[in-house]
Amino acid sequence: MSLTNRILLAMVVGVLTGSLLNLLLHSAAVSEGLRLFITDFLIDGLFDVVGRIFIASLKLLVVPLVLVSLICGSSSLGDSARMGPIAVKTLAFYLATTAIAVSLALFFAVLVGPGNQVELVGEASYRATTPPPLADVLVDIFPSNPFRAMADGKMLQIIVFALLFGYAISHAGEQGRRIASFFRDMEAVVMKMVEILMALAPYGVFALLARLFSDMGISAIVDLASYFFTVLAVLIFHALVVYSLLLRIFSGLSPRMLLQKMRPVWAFAFSTASSGATLPITLRTVERRMGVHNSVAGFTIPLGATINMDGTAIMQGVATVFIAQVYGVDLSAAAFLTVILTATLASIGTAAVPGVGLITLAMVLEQAGLPVEGIALIIGVDRLLDMVRTAVNVTGDATVSVIIGKTENQIDEAVFLDPVAGQDGPREEQVVPTA
Ligand code: ASP
Repeated sequence: MSLTNRILLAMVVGVLTGSLLNLLLHSAAVSEGLRLFITDFLIDGLFDVVGRIFIASLKLLVVPLVLVSLICGSSSLGDSARMGPIAVKTLAFYLATTAIAVSLALFFAVLVGPGNQVELVGEASYRATTPPPLADVLVDIFPSNPFRAMADGKMLQIIVFALLFGYAISHAGEQGRRIASFFRDMEAVVMKMVEILMALAPYGVFALLARLFSDMGISAIVDLASYFFTVLAVLIFHALVVYSLLLRIFSGLSPRMLLQKMRPVWAFAFSTASSGATLPITLRTVERRMGVHNSVAGFTIPLGATINMDGTAIMQGVATVFIAQVYGVDLSAAAFLTVILTATLASIGTAAVPGVGLITLAMVLEQAGLPVEGIALIIGVDRLLDMVRTAVNVTGDATVSVIIGKTENQIDEAVFLDPVAGQDGPREEQVVPTA
């Protein structure tokens, strides 16, 4: 079986196993001994340990990969005068796709009215953390100590440092060429680490999902069904329709091929709920399986994982309308524009780890003049939505990267069109029957 299929199978089996264990734990017929075995040995033991090791090893690769890959990318672009235009274009696409995402979310949410039938029971309570002032956010992008930035995993700071370093390499003559070749070798080695880890991914994905679903009560979804399904529908629409249209219009390439190659990446995004942890896999897929050159992918993917969160913006759009409806607040046209603007900015400030979208939602609500405590209403289903929106977030990164690759002539179309390019495990056509 190909690695892709094994990862997807692990995902399905993980969800089923977790749900089954959840049922067992809630059934009266289960003996105390079996219950202890399930909770202590399986859920809090085996699954927890395997899942945490898996996430740690994914994260382990993020900083070296982003650094090395960005240095390679910017050093090869640095003297071609394309670096600036590519950066501007990438930023424009990331912002535009996010603005489209929030607008769609607002439109559908107003149409469906998920909060209209919901009665506000009791006091909702949620304490928002105060966001830092804008000036600090800006200054914080520029590292004073690159090693500290790497130790703290500050993505934007690492990006700034790597871009500058790569640019300097491309202008440092012979010495620069030597260093560039060192980093290209490093990149090959770190990519190999990603491949090694991917071979173990089925176990990690299984353990994470089995653990998560074993304590996920489905009843939360029933109570918030209309909110949950509105967000889900817009997420799916954006991933399948909007990205496909954009890809067709701006690159003429096949959306079906992109979506097919994204499937294993979705399994990672879904089980980790973190675009940061998924980054090594997204980068590898976009470079090796979709053929986007490192000079573009090495820049667009790490940047996208950090600032481009269309799925998160969709959740925030629907959540804003939902909370307004529950509290009986009529949103004005100005409020809608504010939401589009702040959710697009919030997406930049949302860290690529689980659940942060809910924290930055506080900023959006505040700007729209809505009660921040409203967040308490939707917490119950947020983890599940987080998994799906993270998958949308990384699909947005890949789509924009392919578009930039194509428009800049930095994509190997033969690789993009080859369904098995860069795939791990035995290639179907290479399996020789032994009989
Ligand atoms: N979990 C999301 C991500 O990493 C961020 C969020 O929406 O909470 O992409």
